[in-house]
Amino acid sequence: MANDQDRMERIVSLAKRRGFIFPSSEIYGGINGFWDYGPLGVELKRNIKEAWWRDLVRSPPEGPDGKPIQMVGLDAAIIMNPKVWEASGHTEGFTDPMVDCRECKVRFRADRFTRCFVCEDPDPGQEVTVRRIINVCKNPGCVTFLNEIGSGPEQLESLVRRALGSKKAKLESILVRDDISNAGSVSGFRVIDGQRSYLVGGEWPASAEADDRCPRCGGRFTEARKFNLMLQTHVGALEDSSSLTYLRPETAQGIFANYKNVLDTTRLKIPFGIAQIGKAFRNEINPRNYTFRSREFEMMEIEFFCRRSEADKWYEYWRDARFQWYVGLGLKGERLRLRDHKPDELAHYAKACADIEYSFPFSRPDYEKGETVGFDELEGIANRTDFDLKRHQEASGRDMTYYDDETKERFIPYVIEPSGGVDRAALAFLCEAYDEDEAPDEKGKMRKRTVLRLHPRLAPIKVAVFPLVRKDGMPEKARAIWAACREHMAAFYDEKGAVGRRYRRQDEAGTPFCVTVDGQTNEDGTVTIRDRDTMKQERIAAEAVLSYVRDHLHL
Ligand code: ATP
Repeated sequence: MANDQDRMERIVSLAKRRGFIFPSSEIYGGINGFWDYGPLGVELKRNIKEAWWRDLVRSPPEGPDGKPIQMVGLDAAIIMNPKVWEASGHTEGFTDPMVDCRECKVRFRADRFTRCFVCEDPDPGQEVTVRRIINVCKNPGCVTFLNEIGSGPEQLESLVRRALGSKKAKLESILVRDDISNAGSVSGFRVIDGQRSYLVGGEWPASAEADDRCPRCGGRFTEARKFNLMLQTHVGALEDSSSLTYLRPETAQGIFANYKNVLDTTRLKIPFGIAQIGKAFRNEINPRNYTFRSREFEMMEIEFFCRRSEADKWYEYWRDARFQWYVGLGLKGERLRLRDHKPDELAHYAKACADIEYSFPFSRPDYEKGETVGFDELEGIANRTDFDLKRHQEASGRDMTYYDDETKERFIPYVIEPSGGVDRAALAFLCEAYDEDEAPDEKGKMRKRTVLRLHPRLAPIKVAVFPLVRKDGMPEKARAIWAACREHMAAFYDEKGAVGRRYRRQDEAGTPFCVTVDGQTNEDGTVTIRDRDTMKQERIAAEAVLSYVRDHLHL
């Protein structure tokens, strides 16, 4: 199929065209970082949340010791006492370093810049040393670019043109590391501009002087400053510091703040988990990659409380169980990976952390790390130790200990946290499901077909029912089948247009089965049932439709 950028554009276009995802407040030009879910999108999201809730809260798996896991749910308020965020460290530490361009006033995340050099490549194919690059890099030029827009060859091209002052520069090939031996951490691209050849490096050699310039206008930057990602609001009539509150940036703190309430009102014994799904808000500096980095999104989080001595065991258990959950819902091996964080990546309070990552069409490989395929985070699983409960105990003065009446011990539990995003999961499932193949049209001619091969549990509509034509009693029979199905599952009725087109619309929506009432139904009471993936049709009794769909979809 098409390249990654093209594929992503097709997915975005399908999502808009078929009512999965719309830009928020589009009639007023939209608002960056906010998205609305349409009729199909809201069903997809609900199905993801329901699958998560059912698999983890109502019917959790067995733990590593073979015993059923204890898990309860919670729905805490979005706005909490601001002291929560002081205790959790968010007021102080939930920041990104930012720089402003002094000329165009645009704000950027400072740590997302890479300095890039463009230099003459005097002997193409020959050894080029760092010293040589430094010597020649001021001529023709240097540019600063944002990692996210500049990490792929296509995006680099326009920046290179600007640095060279040329409209014709064209990236020829990506040089592998060995091509520029002795170049330390430098990796680069070869650029051909007419007869001349240039090197474009993805990272400025360490000894070179910093010359950060705004990637938009070339202006100078201010010093880097910290910028808090929490969205603020005021509660009550006064708009001063006494009424300042925040829209929660994560749901986890609502769980920690209620941990004692849950413990006191249930008979839970350690180990146990508290699960929550809810909105979170982050004033992301660069919302990008469609819904991947939004300013309003939904999280699915578990705080799993256990003994310190068992924390490693539970961490490994949750890391693997969460990975398998995504596999079970259709994310494939080569696009899904589990990545353990290196010690220098860990937050100061975390003892271990792993990310479940998906290779989205927009994911860019880190060439510096020798990657050839890019991945981005879907969910993080962390051993947060007793950090949060201890902080809340200190800040609130409330006792956060757990008393074990069998061993007569009192302690603050350790916490394992699987924390995922509903929107990122929805996007990964959409990207994985998107496919194009060929199907015969009404006249039997093969035509391109777009199909969403969504897992049946996630499919917004499970079965669509059509009368072949709007006469001979077919609509009545089809409506009766639809009515029987929709009591148990999301079912759809459609009688408009050629039946082939109706199939295609359902393929694009990811509907696993389409049922058609036709002339033969009047004779023998059978209907056709068509499988989305194989496009094969079978004849079954009209009364058997509901049980057929249920059996085949394991609903
Ligand atoms: P990233 O490094 O991508 O910013 P993060 O490490 O800050 O993510 P966490 O704080 O661990 O993310 O949040 C847990 C989960 O919430 C993420 O794995 C992701 O699925 C989701 N999430 C976080 N930020 C966003 C966002 N801006 N838009 C959509 N989902 C998000």
